[in-house]
Amino acid sequence: MTLLAFSLLVALLAAAFVVRPLVARRDALLVDLASGEVLDAEARRRVSLVALKELEYDYLGGKLDDADYRSQKERLSVEALVAMRAAEAVGIESGRTVAGPDRHACGFLNPPLSRFCAECGARLN
Ligand SMILES: [Zn+2]
Repeated sequence: MTLLAFSLLVALLAAAFVVRPLVARRDALLVDLASGEVLDAEARRRVSLVALKELEYDYLGGKLDDADYRSQKERLSVEALVAMRAAEAVGIESGRTVAGPDRHACGFLNPPLSRFCAECGARLN
């Protein structure tokens, strides 16, 4: 009888553990709390850096000759520099410093309230 009661108790606890997330629904934080201006500047910064990286890969892969590589690298470098400065300026203007709570030491700008860095996986805070 004791074994039956214990088994029933364990089964009820297991069922409660499984059902709890369904009953106690929590809304996921789907909105990004950063302002649109900050997100736009950060997106432009990332896109320009990715474009530079892809240019390097294309050049190293032999897809571009030296003249094309130099001209594109000069153009993309200027774009990346402008985007990086704009991202820094927007971050500072909105009260967030570049090394603020959202930007991890690796340089990745994580959404507010993040517990882990989305780039390197390190724990934040
Ligand atoms: Zn990181």
